[in-house]
Order: sequence, then structure tokens, then C-alpha cells
Amino acid sequence: MHASDYQQLAMRTAAPESDNARRLINAALGLTGEAGEFADTVKKIMFHGHTLDQPALINELGDVLWYVAQACTALDIDMSAVMEANVAKLRRRYPDGFSSDRSIQRDE
Ligand SMILES: [Mg+2]
Repeated sequence: MHASDYQQLAMRTAAPESDNARRLINAALGLTGEAGEFADTVKKIMFHGHTLDQPALINELGDVLWYVAQACTALDIDMSAVMEANVAKLRRRYPDGFSSDRSIQRDE
């Protein structure tokens, strides 16, 4: 599935917002909450003796993705633009793949 297709399908279930500022705030709060749910699932696996529940983790990652789509919609950008910008940033930062030295001596 392409990012723009996902974004369009995901936003089919977004609540109507009066403006993009409200949509962006909703996305920011939702993204934080869903990232927390993902982290909580991992915490339970690592520290509470739960078995690795891949479907639960996929579900939470999907929730995170939904709010990323909402943030992109609020900013009037396609999700693929975010993906491309991130890859370009990482290529500049780690041209030969990750290295601890480059991470420690980062300019940004
Ligand atoms: Mg969730």
C-alpha cells in the first residue's frame, strides 16, 4: 500500500474538525497517546512476563500511523513527503549506514 492511499483511507474515519490547527492538536495528542500504548505493550513483554503479542504491537503501530496521517493532513502534505524527507535526512546523517561515531558527533 502506498502512503498516500493509506492517508486517504485513514482520513475517511477522521472526525470533522473546524480547522487544521484543531486537527493538528488532535494528531499531536493522539500520536503521543498511541506511542504510549505501544511502549506499554513492550513494557509488559519485557517486565511483566507477557508473551510477545505481535498482533497487539501491529495494532498499536497502526494507531500511531493513523495519527501521523492526521498530522500530515492537517499540514496539507502527503505522508510520502514525510517519508522521503526522513530518508534524505538519514542519508545525510549516516551516508554509510549507522555509526556510533556519527551519532555522537552530530551537528543537528
Ligand atoms: Mg491504540
